[in-house]
Amino acid sequence: MCSDKKYDLAIIGGGPAGYSAALYAARANLDVIVFEQGMPGGQIATTDIIDNYPGIPNISGSGLGDAMRSHAEDAGAHTEYAMVTKILEHGGFTIDTSAGPFESRALIMATGATPRPGGFDREDEYRGRGISYCATCDGMFYRGKQVFVIGGGNSAVEEALYLSKIADQVTMVVRRDKFRASPGLVSKLMEAGNISIRFNTSIVAVSGNQLLTSITFNDNISNDRYIEEMPEGSFGVFVFTGMNPVTDLVDGMVEFGIDGGVLTDENMATRTPGLYCAGDMRSKSLRQVITAASDGAIAAMSAYRYLDQSA
Ligand code: FAD
Repeated sequence: MCSDKKYDLAIIGGGPAGYSAALYAARANLDVIVFEQGMPGGQIATTDIIDNYPGIPNISGSGLGDAMRSHAEDAGAHTEYAMVTKILEHGGFTIDTSAGPFESRALIMATGATPRPGGFDREDEYRGRGISYCATCDGMFYRGKQVFVIGGGNSAVEEALYLSKIADQVTMVVRRDKFRASPGLVSKLMEAGNISIRFNTSIVAVSGNQLLTSITFNDNISNDRYIEEMPEGSFGVFVFTGMNPVTDLVDGMVEFGIDGGVLTDENMATRTPGLYCAGDMRSKSLRQVITAASDGAIAAMSAYRYLDQSA
């Protein structure tokens, strides 16, 4: 594909938002290019099983990501495996990438978000094997078990409350001596009955075999460390220290919400004409495949109307 071709619509990010947008735009007969710097599928490509996308139970994350990619490509979208490094807006858009510059009349940003890590030893090794970053996604795997929830903000407390309805016992691990979460939410914790709280405590390491078997805690007052051993597979650790929306490419072209995500209207439009944002990079309350896909479809149809009116 010639790199100086001008496309109707460029989409940055080949996750659920990007490929849903690509599918809808290609079916509307737009000339569409998707830029993806890694594996198609985005965050779901890093997880074993997706079990909450309606109509497709128990599918592998990479399988769902690849199915979304091929569905969009079968409809006519083109994928360019390249990293986008800069965007210039001049009525249309110039997109600088590791494969050279491209031009488009409209642009959908779907660069996603990355969960902030807990920052303890062997966290990456046990990701998906006892370490999770999403209660809605993985909570059901801990039905009747014990879970540890790291974090003291609103999302950690909300997720602990959600998990308390599934797990037998929830232990919140809070770095400081109090919550950052709102008092109303914190009082619900006290009512749950199966949630205990360890203030002034951090998790510094985990270990195990195939699944986790132990956690090393640090008492942040005395700086003493202690290890708790538990039967393999009987517990999990959920990290809720926040999400980092990936937004640096559109700095200066959009407004941001308090969670660092991009603010859009209900049509996924930003304050820059022709620029739309979709999926986890937006400021939003539920970051899931289904909400990313929905955002992508809406953004594509908004871009279609914009292009139609400005033709
Ligand atoms: P992403 O999936 O983050 O995709 C963004 C894409 O943009 C990435 O592929 C990235 O490589 C690309 N990109 C970023 N910057 C650039 C650039 N400069 N140039 C080119 N490409 C770029 N949700 C569920 O509904 N069910 C689940 O079971 C579930 N499990 C999860 C498990 C884990 C471990 C994680 C981390 C998330 C899980 N989620 C789950 C959440 C879900 O994956 C996200 O909500 C969803 O993927 C968001 O889609 P997105 O397209 O907005 O962004």
